[in-house]
Amino acid sequence: MTVNSLIVHGRHHIGDRTCSDAAEWFDSRSPACWDEVIGQFPRGTAETAHQAVAAARAAYPHWRRTSRIYRAELFNNLARLIESRIDDLSHLMARECGKVISECRAEVIEGLHMVQYVFGTGRMPTGHIVDSEIAEKDAFVRRKPWGVAAIITPWNFPFAVPLWMLGPSLQEGNTAVFKPSEDSPGIGQRLFELFLEAGFPPGVINLVHGDHVVGEALVSDPGVNCVLFTGSYDVGKRIQQISAGLPDRIVAAEMGSKSAVIVCADARMDLAVKAAVISAFKTSGQRCVSAGRILVARSHFDEFTRRFVELTRRIRIGNPLDERHFTGPVINPQAVEKILGYNELARHEGADVLLEGGKMTGSDYDPGCYVSPFVYRQEHRPGLRSIREEVFGPHVALIPFDDHEHAARIYNDTEYGLSLAVITEDYRTMRFFREECEFGMGYVNLPCIGAEVHLPFGGVKKSGNGHPSAAGLVETVTHKVAWTVNHGLDIKMAQGLTAEI
Ligand code: NAD
Repeated sequence: MTVNSLIVHGRHHIGDRTCSDAAEWFDSRSPACWDEVIGQFPRGTAETAHQAVAAARAAYPHWRRTSRIYRAELFNNLARLIESRIDDLSHLMARECGKVISECRAEVIEGLHMVQYVFGTGRMPTGHIVDSEIAEKDAFVRRKPWGVAAIITPWNFPFAVPLWMLGPSLQEGNTAVFKPSEDSPGIGQRLFELFLEAGFPPGVINLVHGDHVVGEALVSDPGVNCVLFTGSYDVGKRIQQISAGLPDRIVAAEMGSKSAVIVCADARMDLAVKAAVISAFKTSGQRCVSAGRILVARSHFDEFTRRFVELTRRIRIGNPLDERHFTGPVINPQAVEKILGYNELARHEGADVLLEGGKMTGSDYDPGCYVSPFVYRQEHRPGLRSIREEVFGPHVALIPFDDHEHAARIYNDTEYGLSLAVITEDYRTMRFFREECEFGMGYVNLPCIGAEVHLPFGGVKKSGNGHPSAAGLVETVTHKVAWTVNHGLDIKMAQGLTAEI
């Protein structure tokens, strides 16, 4: 591949500098055809990270003093640009991440919705007025930005997730250093370029490429006030550990899951099967909310299993650019190995295998990273790793339950707590699961996947540390100040405190 045929030429963007000199470069490859190089990117170092943080710090004082409405207008520009590039962006995403084109389009639209939402907040109230005990005083609660945000994102939602974070952060007056995943740097670079084209001043948003080296240096830099991270639990834990040693540091960590669909005895079977297949296999099971477990009432287990396996067999897997395909490949050869390893582990733990998944080979799949669904029946027993750990691939356990208490116990028997779907016709049943299960996002008679930007997105336990993303992030990227003004000519204190000296 010649350099000129690359789709994206990677660059760091730091302040008003575009940096194309790097000691080391890395390739972004297409998961559908591992020989195809999408772009080459500079591998950032600790020095790159510190320069980017310094540029964001330098831009902060001016940016925070601009009006919220001016900042919102820039987001309006950005929305128009995204709207005019939906096809190009989704096409690049499909090639770089292997997600099917219809999903990529939906993700670009979700990113657009976030930008439109942020624009809409520009003219909305940002605080509130409260009464004081003293009639002559007015008291206000207002939000202020923290300063510099480091935004570290995963490959599986390379457009929407960065916008969930960049949107509220910049709109509220913070500046940012954005580090996209090393598996999706091309779409990260395009997103950054759109910000510049929309008129965001240099230094307000900075872009660095690379892996854990530049990521960890960003997190360790005391010039960063908030780290907004989405990715795996192990990395999120490391980021929180580093940050614990720094004063004034806020970390929002959105991490993995072992989400589940619970199919109750009164479920509409058609809806249940469809919801379960979408939850388990959309994006080849590589969503944070993908269902690795389908819990089914024992009385209906056999019928559900037969229909679930039948529908799963009919899933069309192939070239992500072909509109007819339901899923494409997984992200890279390491992911293939990890998924096959979990299939093996499940067998070792006594799985009754119903659908033998594995690496797909042949002219439609080589040299790509295609893996077919692995489906098995497993009785719940404490300590089984295959039904408790995140696999992040098309690997799903069908687990029978005896009653609703049993189902809730199984649901909670993982260290994660992100998403849950209940398939039932009964409002008491749905309420029972809402109250008894540990999760951040719940769905009734739906798949356990799907987000809308005006709702908070986040989980509990190993899935999240209580700073949900999208609309929920405004609370994290600002702090509240109380502001009290006396209109009297003398000083009167609350609680009867004397002002006599
Ligand atoms: P990952 O944790 O491997 O990488 C995420 C980001 O962290 C990348 O940009 C990576 O370069 C960076 N990174 C890696 N090591 C680092 C370190 N030591 N310090 C700082 N940064 C570091 O995750 P991934 O494979 O890109 O994405 C998949 C994971 O993300 C899954 O676990 C999935 O469940 C999770 N995810 C969660 C959500 C959510 O909202 N909860 C959304 C999407 C994905």
